[in-house]
Amino acid sequence: MQHLEQALSSWRAALGPDYVITDRAALLAAQTATFATAQQVPAIICPASREELQACVRIANTFKVPIYPVSRGKNWGYGSRVPTHDGCVIVDLGRLNRILDYDEQLAYVTIEPGVTPRQLFEYLREQGSNLFMSVNGSTPEASLIGNMVERGTGTGPNGDRFMHACALEVVLPTGEFIHTGLERFANAKAARVNRWGVGPALDGLFTQSNLGIVTRLTIWLSPIPEYIQVFNLSIKQHCALEELIDAIRALKRRGLMRTPFSIWNDYKRLSVRQQYPWEQAGADVPLPAAFLESWRQKTREGVWSAGGALYHPSRKHGLIERDLIVRALKDKVDTLFFIDEAKIQFDKRLWGFLQRVTGRKPGFNPETLKNSRFLGVPSARNIASAYWRKRTPVPPAMDPDRDRCGTIWCSPAVPFEGKSVAEAVKIITDTVTAHTFEPNISLLCMSERSIHTIVAIMYDREVAGEDDRAMACHDDLIQRLARSGYIPYRLGVQSMQSLPPPQDDYLALIKRIKRALDPNDILAPGRYDFRDAWEADEG
Ligand SMILES: Cc1cc2nc3c(=O)[nH]c(=O)nc-3n(C[C@H](O)[C@H](O)[C@H](O)COP(=O)(O)OP(=O)(O)OC[C@H]3O[C@@H](n4cnc5c(N)ncnc54)[C@H](O)[C@@H]3O)c2cc1C
Repeated sequence: MQHLEQALSSWRAALGPDYVITDRAALLAAQTATFATAQQVPAIICPASREELQACVRIANTFKVPIYPVSRGKNWGYGSRVPTHDGCVIVDLGRLNRILDYDEQLAYVTIEPGVTPRQLFEYLREQGSNLFMSVNGSTPEASLIGNMVERGTGTGPNGDRFMHACALEVVLPTGEFIHTGLERFANAKAARVNRWGVGPALDGLFTQSNLGIVTRLTIWLSPIPEYIQVFNLSIKQHCALEELIDAIRALKRRGLMRTPFSIWNDYKRLSVRQQYPWEQAGADVPLPAAFLESWRQKTREGVWSAGGALYHPSRKHGLIERDLIVRALKDKVDTLFFIDEAKIQFDKRLWGFLQRVTGRKPGFNPETLKNSRFLGVPSARNIASAYWRKRTPVPPAMDPDRDRCGTIWCSPAVPFEGKSVAEAVKIITDTVTAHTFEPNISLLCMSERSIHTIVAIMYDREVAGEDDRAMACHDDLIQRLARSGYIPYRLGVQSMQSLPPPQDDYLALIKRIKRALDPNDILAPGRYDFRDAWEADEG
Protein backbone atom coordinates (compact mmCIF):
# COMPACT_ATOMS: atom_id res chain seq x y z
CA MET A 1 0.00 0.00 0.00
CA GLN A 2 2.84 2.31 0.94
CA HIS A 3 4.53 1.45 -2.35
CA LEU A 4 1.35 2.37 -4.20
CA GLU A 5 1.16 5.76 -2.48
CA GLN A 6 4.80 6.46 -3.40
CA ALA A 7 4.20 5.40 -6.99
CA LEU A 8 1.11 7.61 -7.20
CA SER A 9 2.96 10.66 -6.04
CA SER A 10 5.79 9.98 -8.52
CA TRP A 11 3.28 9.53 -11.33
CA ARG A 12 1.59 12.80 -10.31
CA ALA A 13 4.94 14.55 -10.51
CA ALA A 14 5.61 13.01 -13.95
CA LEU A 15 2.18 13.54 -15.54
CA GLY A 16 0.48 16.25 -13.53
CA PRO A 17 -2.21 15.49 -10.93
CA ASP A 18 -5.08 15.54 -13.46
CA TYR A 19 -3.68 12.49 -15.20
CA VAL A 20 -3.49 10.23 -12.17
CA ILE A 21 -7.08 9.26 -11.49
CA THR A 22 -8.13 7.81 -8.17
CA ASP A 23 -11.72 9.03 -8.22
CA ARG A 24 -13.95 6.21 -6.92
CA ALA A 25 -16.58 6.42 -9.65
CA ALA A 26 -13.94 6.28 -12.38
CA LEU A 27 -12.25 3.29 -10.75
CA LEU A 28 -15.55 1.44 -10.34
CA ALA A 29 -16.28 1.99 -14.03
CA ALA A 30 -12.82 0.69 -14.97
CA GLN A 31 -13.45 -2.42 -12.87
CA THR A 32 -16.64 -3.18 -14.78
CA ALA A 33 -16.73 -5.56 -17.71
CA THR A 34 -19.58 -7.28 -19.57
CA PHE A 35 -19.32 -10.22 -17.17
CA ALA A 36 -18.54 -10.59 -13.48
CA THR A 37 -14.98 -9.79 -12.38
CA ALA A 38 -13.44 -9.28 -8.95
CA GLN A 39 -10.20 -7.44 -9.82
CA GLN A 40 -9.73 -4.07 -8.12
CA VAL A 41 -8.09 -1.15 -9.93
CA PRO A 42 -6.30 1.23 -7.52
CA ALA A 43 -5.67 4.04 -10.06
CA ILE A 44 -5.65 5.03 -13.72
CA ILE A 45 -2.69 6.90 -15.18
CA CYS A 46 -2.81 8.70 -18.52
CA PRO A 47 0.53 9.50 -20.16
CA ALA A 48 0.45 11.66 -23.30
CA SER A 49 3.67 10.59 -25.02
CA ARG A 50 6.04 7.69 -25.31
CA GLU A 51 8.50 9.53 -23.05
CA GLU A 52 5.87 10.01 -20.34
CA LEU A 53 4.92 6.35 -20.65
CA GLN A 54 8.57 5.33 -20.22
CA ALA A 55 8.73 7.45 -17.05
CA CYS A 56 5.54 5.76 -15.78
CA VAL A 57 6.95 2.29 -16.44
CA ARG A 58 10.19 3.13 -14.63
CA ILE A 59 8.20 4.37 -11.63
CA ALA A 60 6.19 1.13 -11.66
CA ASN A 61 9.51 -0.75 -11.49
CA THR A 62 10.90 1.40 -8.71
CA PHE A 63 7.88 0.79 -6.48
CA LYS A 64 7.03 -2.66 -7.86
CA VAL A 65 3.46 -1.68 -8.65
CA PRO A 66 1.88 -3.69 -11.49
CA ILE A 67 0.42 -1.78 -14.44
CA TYR A 68 -1.99 -2.81 -17.20
CA PRO A 69 -2.17 -0.94 -20.55
CA VAL A 70 -5.40 -0.25 -22.40
CA SER A 71 -5.67 1.82 -25.55
CA ARG A 72 -9.38 2.68 -25.71
CA GLY A 73 -10.58 -0.01 -23.32
CA LYS A 74 -13.44 -1.28 -25.46
CA ASN A 75 -12.42 -4.92 -25.16
CA TRP A 76 -16.09 -5.76 -24.59
CA GLY A 77 -16.83 -9.44 -24.18
CA TYR A 78 -13.16 -10.21 -23.45
CA GLY A 79 -12.79 -8.13 -20.26
CA SER A 80 -13.17 -4.45 -21.23
CA ARG A 81 -10.60 -2.51 -19.17
CA VAL A 82 -10.39 -5.01 -16.34
CA PRO A 83 -6.83 -6.30 -15.80
CA THR A 84 -6.07 -10.00 -15.66
CA HIS A 85 -4.82 -9.68 -12.07
CA ASP A 86 -6.01 -7.80 -9.02
CA GLY A 87 -4.33 -4.54 -7.98
CA CYS A 88 -2.99 -3.39 -11.38
CA VAL A 89 -2.93 0.33 -12.14
CA ILE A 90 -4.46 0.93 -15.56
CA VAL A 91 -2.29 2.81 -18.05
CA ASP A 92 -4.81 4.51 -20.33
CA LEU A 93 -3.13 5.31 -23.66
CA GLY A 94 -6.07 7.31 -25.05
CA ARG A 95 -4.06 10.56 -25.04
CA LEU A 96 -1.53 9.11 -27.47
CA ASN A 97 -3.92 9.66 -30.32
CA ARG A 98 -1.94 11.09 -33.22
CA ILE A 99 -1.81 9.96 -36.81
CA LEU A 100 1.92 10.39 -37.34
CA ASP A 101 2.47 9.52 -40.96
CA TYR A 102 0.37 8.95 -44.05
CA ASP A 103 1.47 7.89 -47.51
CA GLU A 104 -1.15 7.75 -50.24
CA GLN A 105 1.12 6.11 -52.82
CA LEU A 106 2.45 3.37 -50.58
CA ALA A 107 -0.94 3.08 -48.84
CA TYR A 108 -0.13 3.22 -45.15
CA VAL A 109 -0.63 5.26 -42.00
CA THR A 110 1.38 5.30 -38.80
CA ILE A 111 -0.74 5.72 -35.71
CA GLU A 112 -0.67 5.84 -31.92
CA PRO A 113 -2.78 3.62 -29.62
CA GLY A 114 -5.53 6.20 -28.99
CA VAL A 115 -6.44 6.41 -32.70
CA THR A 116 -9.91 5.03 -33.38
CA PRO A 117 -11.47 3.67 -36.58
CA ARG A 118 -13.66 6.78 -36.74
CA GLN A 119 -10.67 9.11 -36.41
CA LEU A 120 -8.76 7.30 -39.15
CA PHE A 121 -11.80 7.26 -41.43
CA GLU A 122 -12.36 11.01 -40.98
CA TYR A 123 -8.68 11.72 -41.48
CA LEU A 124 -8.59 9.82 -44.77
CA ARG A 125 -11.72 11.66 -45.96
CA GLU A 126 -10.11 15.01 -45.08
CA GLN A 127 -7.02 14.07 -47.09
CA GLY A 128 -9.23 13.21 -50.09
CA SER A 129 -7.61 9.79 -49.87
CA ASN A 130 -8.47 6.90 -52.12
CA LEU A 131 -7.53 4.47 -49.33
CA PHE A 132 -9.61 2.71 -46.71
CA MET A 133 -9.18 0.58 -43.61
CA SER A 134 -11.65 -2.26 -43.45
CA VAL A 135 -13.88 -2.13 -40.38
CA ASN A 136 -15.04 -4.71 -37.88
CA GLY A 137 -18.10 -5.31 -35.72
CA SER A 138 -16.90 -3.36 -32.70
CA THR A 139 -17.44 0.30 -31.98
CA PRO A 140 -15.95 3.14 -34.10
CA GLU A 141 -14.56 4.43 -30.78
CA ALA A 142 -12.35 1.38 -30.13
CA SER A 143 -8.59 1.48 -30.64
CA LEU A 144 -7.04 0.20 -33.84
CA ILE A 145 -3.86 -0.74 -31.98
CA GLY A 146 -5.76 -2.23 -29.00
CA ASN A 147 -7.64 -4.44 -31.42
CA MET A 148 -4.50 -5.40 -33.34
CA VAL A 149 -2.46 -6.35 -30.29
CA GLU A 150 -5.28 -8.71 -29.36
CA ARG A 151 -5.03 -10.03 -32.94
CA GLY A 152 -8.61 -8.86 -33.42
CA THR A 153 -10.30 -9.35 -36.72
CA GLY A 154 -12.59 -7.75 -39.22
CA THR A 155 -13.90 -8.33 -42.70
CA GLY A 156 -12.65 -6.92 -46.00
CA PRO A 157 -9.14 -6.75 -47.45
CA ASN A 158 -7.33 -6.03 -44.15
CA GLY A 159 -9.62 -8.24 -42.07
CA ASP A 160 -6.66 -10.02 -40.54
CA ARG A 161 -5.45 -6.74 -39.16
CA PHE A 162 -2.14 -7.70 -37.65
CA MET A 163 -1.12 -9.31 -40.95
CA HIS A 164 -1.17 -5.78 -42.36
CA ALA A 165 0.83 -4.04 -39.63
CA CYS A 166 4.56 -3.43 -39.21
CA ALA A 167 7.16 -1.13 -37.65
CA LEU A 168 5.93 -1.35 -34.08
CA GLU A 169 7.36 0.99 -31.46
CA VAL A 170 7.28 -0.76 -28.11
CA VAL A 171 8.05 0.35 -24.57
CA LEU A 172 9.50 -2.65 -22.74
CA PRO A 173 8.65 -3.53 -19.13
CA THR A 174 11.97 -2.01 -18.03
CA GLY A 175 11.11 1.36 -19.60
CA GLU A 176 13.47 0.94 -22.58
CA PHE A 177 11.97 1.15 -26.05
CA ILE A 178 12.52 -0.63 -29.35
CA HIS A 179 11.25 -0.72 -32.91
CA THR A 180 10.47 -3.82 -34.90
CA GLY A 181 11.44 -4.46 -38.51
CA LEU A 182 13.65 -1.89 -40.21
CA GLU A 183 12.33 1.03 -38.15
CA ARG A 184 15.30 0.77 -35.76
CA PHE A 185 17.49 2.32 -38.46
CA ALA A 186 16.95 6.08 -38.51
CA ASN A 187 17.30 6.32 -42.30
CA ALA A 188 15.54 3.10 -43.34
CA LYS A 189 13.34 4.20 -46.22
CA ALA A 190 11.44 0.89 -46.39
CA ALA A 191 10.74 0.66 -42.64
CA ARG A 192 6.98 1.14 -43.03
CA VAL A 193 6.53 -1.04 -46.10
CA ASN A 194 8.80 -4.01 -45.40
CA ARG A 195 7.22 -6.16 -42.76
CA TRP A 196 9.96 -8.44 -41.47
CA GLY A 197 13.05 -6.24 -41.51
CA VAL A 198 16.34 -8.00 -40.88
CA GLY A 199 17.07 -10.38 -38.00
CA PRO A 200 14.57 -12.14 -35.73
CA ALA A 201 11.06 -10.80 -36.37
CA LEU A 202 9.83 -9.65 -32.96
CA ASP A 203 6.39 -8.23 -33.85
CA GLY A 204 4.39 -11.26 -32.72
CA LEU A 205 5.95 -11.14 -29.25
CA PHE A 206 3.95 -8.00 -28.52
CA THR A 207 0.51 -9.33 -29.47
CA GLN A 208 -1.53 -11.31 -26.96
CA SER A 209 1.29 -10.90 -24.46
CA ASN A 210 2.58 -8.88 -21.52
CA LEU A 211 6.05 -8.22 -22.88
CA GLY A 212 5.70 -4.61 -24.04
CA ILE A 213 3.40 -1.63 -24.59
CA VAL A 214 2.91 -0.73 -28.24
CA THR A 215 3.10 3.04 -28.67
CA ARG A 216 2.85 3.22 -32.45
CA LEU A 217 2.67 1.06 -35.52
CA THR A 218 2.11 1.31 -39.24
CA ILE A 219 -1.02 -0.13 -40.83
CA TRP A 220 -1.30 -0.86 -44.50
CA LEU A 221 -4.48 0.35 -46.13
CA SER A 222 -6.37 -0.78 -49.21
CA PRO A 223 -7.03 1.36 -52.26
CA ILE A 224 -10.70 1.86 -53.11
CA PRO A 225 -11.08 -0.45 -56.09
CA GLU A 226 -12.33 0.46 -59.53
CA TYR A 227 -15.28 -1.90 -59.09
CA ILE A 228 -16.88 -3.30 -55.92
CA GLN A 229 -19.83 -5.63 -55.62
CA VAL A 230 -21.49 -7.12 -52.59
CA PHE A 231 -22.74 -10.68 -52.48
CA ASN A 232 -25.48 -12.09 -50.27
CA LEU A 233 -26.14 -15.78 -49.89
CA SER A 234 -28.21 -17.98 -47.62
CA ILE A 235 -29.17 -21.58 -46.94
CA LYS A 236 -32.45 -22.75 -45.45
CA GLN A 237 -31.29 -26.11 -44.02
CA HIS A 238 -28.58 -26.66 -41.41
CA CYS A 239 -27.44 -29.78 -43.23
CA ALA A 240 -26.41 -27.64 -46.23
CA LEU A 241 -23.70 -25.86 -44.21
CA GLU A 242 -21.06 -28.54 -44.62
CA GLU A 243 -21.19 -28.50 -48.41
CA LEU A 244 -21.35 -24.71 -48.52
CA ILE A 245 -18.17 -24.41 -46.44
CA ASP A 246 -16.30 -26.82 -48.69
CA ALA A 247 -17.50 -24.98 -51.79
CA ILE A 248 -16.39 -21.60 -50.41
CA ARG A 249 -12.99 -23.03 -49.47
CA ALA A 250 -12.59 -24.33 -53.02
CA LEU A 251 -13.41 -20.86 -54.36
CA LYS A 252 -10.98 -19.20 -51.99
CA ARG A 253 -8.23 -21.61 -53.00
CA ARG A 254 -8.78 -20.54 -56.58
CA GLY A 255 -8.25 -16.93 -55.52
CA LEU A 256 -11.96 -16.01 -55.55
CA MET A 257 -14.00 -14.53 -52.65
CA ARG A 258 -10.60 -13.76 -51.23
CA THR A 259 -11.14 -11.20 -48.53
CA PRO A 260 -12.44 -12.27 -45.12
CA PHE A 261 -16.22 -12.29 -44.66
CA SER A 262 -18.63 -13.76 -42.12
CA ILE A 263 -21.36 -16.34 -42.32
CA TRP A 264 -23.93 -15.69 -39.58
CA ASN A 265 -26.55 -18.00 -38.17
CA ASP A 266 -30.12 -16.81 -37.69
CA TYR A 267 -29.64 -16.08 -33.97
CA LYS A 268 -26.76 -13.75 -34.73
CA ARG A 269 -28.67 -11.98 -37.49
CA LEU A 270 -31.74 -11.57 -35.29
CA SER A 271 -29.68 -10.20 -32.40
CA VAL A 272 -28.29 -7.31 -34.46
CA ARG A 273 -31.77 -6.46 -35.75
CA GLN A 274 -33.80 -6.51 -32.54
CA GLN A 275 -33.79 -7.33 -28.84
CA TYR A 276 -35.11 -10.56 -27.33
CA PRO A 277 -38.85 -10.75 -28.10
CA TRP A 278 -39.93 -10.88 -24.45
CA GLU A 279 -43.54 -10.11 -25.30
CA GLN A 280 -43.94 -13.04 -27.67
CA ALA A 281 -41.64 -15.46 -25.81
CA GLY A 282 -42.93 -14.65 -22.32
CA ALA A 283 -40.29 -15.64 -19.77
CA ASP A 284 -39.06 -18.53 -21.94
CA VAL A 285 -35.35 -18.85 -22.61
CA PRO A 286 -33.64 -19.83 -24.80
CA LEU A 287 -35.57 -18.37 -27.68
CA PRO A 288 -38.42 -20.70 -28.73
CA ALA A 289 -37.71 -22.37 -32.09
CA ALA A 290 -41.18 -21.38 -33.33
CA PHE A 291 -40.37 -17.69 -32.96
CA LEU A 292 -37.15 -18.02 -34.91
CA GLU A 293 -38.89 -20.02 -37.60
CA SER A 294 -41.65 -17.46 -38.07
CA TRP A 295 -39.10 -14.60 -38.05
CA ARG A 296 -37.14 -16.38 -40.79
CA GLN A 297 -40.26 -16.81 -42.88
CA LYS A 298 -41.33 -13.21 -42.44
CA THR A 299 -37.92 -11.80 -43.31
CA ARG A 300 -36.99 -14.54 -45.83
CA GLU A 301 -33.80 -15.16 -43.85
CA GLY A 302 -31.93 -18.45 -44.04
CA VAL A 303 -30.61 -20.46 -41.10
CA TRP A 304 -27.16 -19.35 -42.24
CA SER A 305 -26.41 -16.36 -44.43
CA ALA A 306 -23.41 -14.33 -45.53
CA GLY A 307 -22.76 -10.93 -46.99
CA GLY A 308 -19.38 -9.75 -48.15
CA ALA A 309 -17.70 -7.57 -50.70
CA LEU A 310 -15.64 -8.45 -53.73
CA TYR A 311 -13.02 -5.92 -54.81
CA HIS A 312 -11.91 -5.77 -58.45
CA PRO A 313 -9.58 -3.78 -60.69
CA SER A 314 -12.41 -3.43 -63.26
CA ARG A 315 -16.09 -4.27 -63.84
CA LYS A 316 -14.98 -6.87 -66.37
CA HIS A 317 -12.98 -8.70 -63.71
CA GLY A 318 -15.94 -8.43 -61.36
CA LEU A 319 -18.41 -9.95 -63.77
CA ILE A 320 -16.09 -12.86 -64.51
CA GLU A 321 -15.64 -13.58 -60.78
CA ARG A 322 -19.37 -13.27 -60.23
CA ASP A 323 -20.00 -15.82 -62.94
CA LEU A 324 -17.49 -18.28 -61.44
CA ILE A 325 -19.02 -17.89 -57.98
CA VAL A 326 -22.55 -18.40 -59.27
CA ARG A 327 -21.51 -21.55 -61.10
CA ALA A 328 -19.77 -22.96 -58.02
CA LEU A 329 -22.44 -22.09 -55.46
CA LYS A 330 -25.76 -22.21 -57.27
CA ASP A 331 -26.51 -25.78 -56.16
CA LYS A 332 -25.25 -25.19 -52.64
CA VAL A 333 -27.36 -22.18 -51.62
CA ASP A 334 -31.01 -21.17 -51.55
CA THR A 335 -30.39 -17.54 -52.40
CA LEU A 336 -27.45 -15.80 -53.99
CA PHE A 337 -27.45 -12.29 -55.35
CA PHE A 338 -25.03 -9.48 -56.08
CA ILE A 339 -25.37 -5.73 -55.70
CA ASP A 340 -23.20 -3.11 -57.32
CA GLU A 341 -23.48 0.66 -57.58
CA ALA A 342 -25.38 0.46 -60.89
CA LYS A 343 -27.96 -1.88 -59.36
CA ILE A 344 -28.43 0.37 -56.34
CA GLN A 345 -29.02 3.38 -58.56
CA PHE A 346 -31.42 1.40 -60.78
CA ASP A 347 -33.37 0.12 -57.74
CA LYS A 348 -33.54 3.63 -56.34
CA ARG A 349 -35.12 4.97 -59.51
CA LEU A 350 -37.47 2.00 -59.71
CA TRP A 351 -38.53 2.37 -56.09
CA GLY A 352 -38.92 6.12 -56.48
CA PHE A 353 -41.38 5.43 -59.28
CA LEU A 354 -43.19 2.63 -57.39
CA GLN A 355 -43.40 4.75 -54.27
CA ARG A 356 -45.01 7.58 -56.22
CA VAL A 357 -47.53 5.19 -57.74
CA THR A 358 -48.21 2.81 -54.82
CA GLY A 359 -47.12 4.80 -51.76
CA ARG A 360 -44.99 1.81 -50.61
CA LYS A 361 -41.59 2.45 -49.06
CA PRO A 362 -38.45 0.89 -50.57
CA GLY A 363 -37.54 -2.54 -49.23
CA PHE A 364 -33.81 -1.95 -49.61
CA ASN A 365 -31.20 0.09 -47.85
CA PRO A 366 -30.67 3.06 -50.16
CA GLU A 367 -27.04 3.75 -49.21
CA THR A 368 -24.42 3.80 -51.91
CA LEU A 369 -21.60 1.29 -51.65
CA LYS A 370 -19.18 4.21 -51.35
CA ASN A 371 -20.73 5.05 -47.99
CA SER A 372 -20.88 1.53 -46.69
CA ARG A 373 -18.86 -0.51 -44.22
CA PHE A 374 -17.45 -2.41 -47.21
CA LEU A 375 -15.38 0.68 -48.01
CA GLY A 376 -14.38 1.39 -44.45
CA VAL A 377 -17.22 3.49 -43.01
CA PRO A 378 -17.20 2.49 -39.33
CA SER A 379 -20.53 1.76 -37.67
CA ALA A 380 -21.73 0.85 -34.18
CA ARG A 381 -24.61 -1.20 -35.62
CA ASN A 382 -23.48 -4.57 -34.20
CA ILE A 383 -23.00 -3.27 -30.66
CA ALA A 384 -26.79 -3.25 -30.28
CA SER A 385 -26.61 -7.06 -30.13
CA ALA A 386 -25.01 -6.74 -26.67
CA TYR A 387 -28.44 -5.47 -25.51
CA TRP A 388 -30.15 -8.64 -26.83
CA ARG A 389 -31.56 -9.86 -23.52
CA LYS A 390 -31.98 -6.44 -21.90
CA ARG A 391 -35.55 -5.44 -21.11
CA THR A 392 -34.76 -1.77 -21.54
CA PRO A 393 -34.37 -0.29 -25.05
CA VAL A 394 -30.98 0.14 -26.70
CA PRO A 395 -29.78 3.67 -25.81
CA PRO A 396 -28.47 6.02 -28.52
CA ALA A 397 -25.01 6.13 -26.87
CA MET A 398 -24.30 2.45 -26.30
CA ASP A 399 -21.95 1.35 -23.52
CA PRO A 400 -22.33 -2.33 -22.67
CA ASP A 401 -20.17 -2.01 -19.51
CA ARG A 402 -22.22 0.85 -18.09
CA ASP A 403 -25.55 -0.67 -19.10
CA ARG A 404 -24.76 -4.06 -17.55
CA CYS A 405 -25.08 -5.95 -20.81
CA GLY A 406 -23.81 -9.49 -20.44
CA THR A 407 -21.50 -10.50 -23.28
CA ILE A 408 -18.88 -13.26 -23.25
CA TRP A 409 -17.11 -14.40 -26.40
CA CYS A 410 -15.75 -17.84 -27.12
CA SER A 411 -13.71 -17.91 -30.33
CA PRO A 412 -12.30 -21.26 -31.44
CA ALA A 413 -10.23 -21.56 -34.62
CA VAL A 414 -11.56 -24.28 -36.91
CA PRO A 415 -10.09 -25.72 -40.13
CA PHE A 416 -11.86 -24.49 -43.27
CA GLU A 417 -13.62 -27.77 -43.94
CA GLY A 418 -17.29 -28.59 -43.77
CA LYS A 419 -17.02 -31.53 -41.41
CA SER A 420 -14.98 -29.64 -38.81
CA VAL A 421 -17.25 -26.59 -38.95
CA ALA A 422 -20.33 -28.80 -38.61
CA GLU A 423 -18.78 -30.58 -35.64
CA ALA A 424 -17.85 -27.33 -33.89
CA VAL A 425 -21.28 -25.82 -34.59
CA LYS A 426 -22.96 -28.90 -33.10
CA ILE A 427 -20.85 -28.72 -29.93
CA ILE A 428 -21.65 -25.02 -29.61
CA THR A 429 -25.37 -25.41 -30.25
CA ASP A 430 -25.77 -28.35 -27.85
CA THR A 431 -23.74 -26.75 -25.09
CA VAL A 432 -25.08 -23.21 -25.25
CA THR A 433 -28.70 -24.32 -25.57
CA ALA A 434 -28.32 -26.73 -22.63
CA HIS A 435 -27.25 -23.70 -20.56
CA THR A 436 -30.42 -21.85 -21.76
CA PHE A 437 -28.64 -19.27 -23.91
CA GLU A 438 -28.96 -18.77 -27.67
CA PRO A 439 -26.20 -20.22 -29.88
CA ASN A 440 -25.29 -16.90 -31.50
CA ILE A 441 -22.59 -17.85 -34.03
CA SER A 442 -20.54 -16.09 -36.68
CA LEU A 443 -18.17 -18.05 -38.94
CA LEU A 444 -15.47 -15.58 -39.91
CA CYS A 445 -13.80 -16.94 -43.05
CA MET A 446 -10.32 -15.55 -42.36
CA SER A 447 -8.30 -17.30 -45.02
CA GLU A 448 -8.68 -20.25 -47.35
CA ARG A 449 -7.54 -22.51 -44.51
CA SER A 450 -9.09 -21.37 -41.28
CA ILE A 451 -12.35 -20.05 -39.85
CA HIS A 452 -12.76 -18.13 -36.61
CA THR A 453 -15.94 -19.46 -35.11
CA ILE A 454 -17.15 -16.66 -32.89
CA VAL A 455 -19.80 -17.45 -30.30
CA ALA A 456 -21.50 -14.69 -28.30
CA ILE A 457 -23.12 -15.59 -25.01
CA MET A 458 -25.46 -12.65 -24.52
CA TYR A 459 -27.43 -12.06 -21.31
CA ASP A 460 -28.65 -9.44 -18.87
CA ARG A 461 -26.35 -8.81 -15.92
CA GLU A 462 -29.32 -7.41 -13.98
CA VAL A 463 -30.91 -10.88 -13.74
CA ALA A 464 -29.88 -12.54 -10.48
CA GLY A 465 -27.59 -15.53 -10.99
CA GLU A 466 -27.17 -14.88 -14.72
CA ASP A 467 -23.49 -13.84 -14.46
CA ASP A 468 -22.66 -17.23 -12.95
CA ARG A 469 -24.82 -19.19 -15.39
CA ALA A 470 -23.33 -17.44 -18.41
CA MET A 471 -19.75 -17.99 -17.23
CA ALA A 472 -20.50 -21.66 -16.50
CA CYS A 473 -21.80 -21.94 -20.07
CA HIS A 474 -18.67 -20.26 -21.45
CA ASP A 475 -16.29 -22.43 -19.41
CA ASP A 476 -18.13 -25.59 -20.36
CA LEU A 477 -18.03 -24.55 -24.01
CA ILE A 478 -14.27 -23.84 -24.01
CA GLN A 479 -13.61 -27.24 -22.42
CA ARG A 480 -15.85 -29.20 -24.78
CA LEU A 481 -14.48 -27.48 -27.86
CA ALA A 482 -10.88 -27.94 -26.70
CA ARG A 483 -11.48 -31.66 -26.06
CA SER A 484 -12.46 -31.96 -29.72
CA GLY A 485 -9.41 -29.96 -30.86
CA TYR A 486 -10.97 -26.52 -31.31
CA ILE A 487 -8.78 -24.13 -29.35
CA PRO A 488 -9.71 -20.43 -29.01
CA TYR A 489 -7.67 -17.93 -31.02
CA ARG A 490 -8.20 -15.25 -28.35
CA LEU A 491 -9.11 -15.24 -24.65
CA GLY A 492 -11.02 -13.11 -22.21
CA VAL A 493 -9.24 -11.90 -19.06
CA GLN A 494 -11.10 -14.53 -17.04
CA SER A 495 -9.94 -17.44 -19.19
CA MET A 496 -6.16 -17.28 -19.24
CA GLN A 497 -6.04 -20.65 -17.46
CA SER A 498 -8.71 -22.39 -19.49
CA LEU A 499 -6.51 -24.04 -22.10
CA PRO A 500 -5.33 -27.66 -22.14
CA PRO A 501 -1.66 -28.22 -21.17
CA PRO A 502 0.84 -27.90 -24.06
CA GLN A 503 2.65 -31.00 -25.30
CA ASP A 504 6.07 -29.28 -25.33
CA ASP A 505 8.23 -26.71 -23.48
CA TYR A 506 6.11 -23.71 -24.50
CA LEU A 507 5.32 -22.66 -20.92
CA ALA A 508 8.96 -22.91 -19.80
CA LEU A 509 9.96 -20.64 -22.71
CA ILE A 510 7.21 -18.09 -22.00
CA LYS A 511 8.24 -18.03 -18.36
CA ARG A 512 11.91 -17.51 -19.27
CA ILE A 513 11.07 -14.68 -21.69
CA LYS A 514 8.77 -12.98 -19.19
CA ARG A 515 11.37 -13.20 -16.42
CA ALA A 516 14.07 -11.83 -18.72
CA LEU A 517 12.07 -8.90 -20.10
CA ASP A 518 10.13 -8.03 -16.97
CA PRO A 519 12.30 -8.87 -13.96
CA ASN A 520 9.97 -7.06 -11.53
CA ASP A 521 6.85 -8.60 -13.07
CA ILE A 522 5.17 -5.22 -13.37
CA LEU A 523 3.53 -5.46 -16.81
CA ALA A 524 0.07 -7.01 -17.04
CA PRO A 525 0.88 -10.05 -14.91
CA GLY A 526 -1.11 -13.08 -16.05
CA ARG A 527 -2.06 -11.67 -19.45
CA TYR A 528 -1.55 -14.56 -21.89
CA ASP A 529 1.46 -15.86 -19.92
CA PHE A 530 -0.46 -18.87 -18.56
CA ARG A 531 1.51 -18.53 -15.31
CA ASP A 532 -0.75 -20.71 -13.20
CA ALA A 533 0.58 -23.65 -15.20
CA TRP A 534 4.26 -22.65 -14.86
CA GLU A 535 6.46 -25.10 -13.01
CA ALA A 536 7.56 -23.87 -9.60
CA ASP A 537 11.08 -22.38 -9.37
CA GLU A 538 13.74 -24.68 -7.97
CA GLY A 539 15.42 -23.98 -4.64
C1 LIG B 1 -21.07 -6.52 -30.35
C2 LIG B 1 -19.57 -6.59 -30.37
C3 LIG B 1 -18.94 -6.80 -31.59
C4 LIG B 1 -17.54 -6.93 -31.65
N1 LIG B 1 -16.95 -7.17 -32.85
C5 LIG B 1 -15.63 -7.38 -32.92
C6 LIG B 1 -15.01 -7.70 -34.17
O1 LIG B 1 -15.65 -7.75 -35.21
N2 LIG B 1 -13.67 -7.95 -34.17
C7 LIG B 1 -12.92 -7.88 -33.03
O2 LIG B 1 -11.71 -8.12 -33.07
N3 LIG B 1 -13.48 -7.57 -31.84
C8 LIG B 1 -14.81 -7.33 -31.75
N4 LIG B 1 -15.37 -7.02 -30.53
C9 LIG B 1 -14.53 -7.05 -29.30
C10 LIG B 1 -13.89 -5.69 -28.92
O3 LIG B 1 -14.91 -4.72 -28.75
C11 LIG B 1 -12.85 -5.22 -29.94
O4 LIG B 1 -11.85 -6.19 -30.14
C12 LIG B 1 -12.18 -3.88 -29.55
O5 LIG B 1 -11.45 -3.40 -30.65
C13 LIG B 1 -11.21 -4.01 -28.35
O6 LIG B 1 -11.16 -2.79 -27.66
P1 LIG B 1 -10.05 -1.68 -27.94
O7 LIG B 1 -9.78 -1.69 -29.40
O8 LIG B 1 -10.50 -0.42 -27.32
O9 LIG B 1 -8.77 -2.30 -27.25
P2 LIG B 1 -8.31 -2.16 -25.72
O10 LIG B 1 -9.44 -2.56 -24.85
O11 LIG B 1 -7.69 -0.87 -25.47
O12 LIG B 1 -7.18 -3.28 -25.73
C14 LIG B 1 -7.43 -4.63 -25.70
C15 LIG B 1 -6.39 -5.33 -24.81
O13 LIG B 1 -5.13 -5.28 -25.48
C16 LIG B 1 -4.08 -4.91 -24.56
N5 LIG B 1 -3.53 -3.64 -25.02
C17 LIG B 1 -4.24 -2.55 -25.39
N6 LIG B 1 -3.44 -1.60 -25.85
C18 LIG B 1 -2.19 -2.08 -25.78
C19 LIG B 1 -0.93 -1.56 -26.16
N7 LIG B 1 -0.84 -0.35 -26.72
N8 LIG B 1 0.17 -2.32 -25.95
C20 LIG B 1 0.06 -3.56 -25.42
N9 LIG B 1 -1.11 -4.12 -25.06
C21 LIG B 1 -2.23 -3.38 -25.24
C22 LIG B 1 -4.71 -4.81 -23.19
O14 LIG B 1 -4.54 -6.01 -22.50
C23 LIG B 1 -6.18 -4.61 -23.48
O15 LIG B 1 -6.99 -5.17 -22.50
C24 LIG B 1 -16.77 -6.84 -30.44
C25 LIG B 1 -17.42 -6.59 -29.22
C26 LIG B 1 -18.81 -6.46 -29.20
C27 LIG B 1 -19.47 -6.21 -27.87
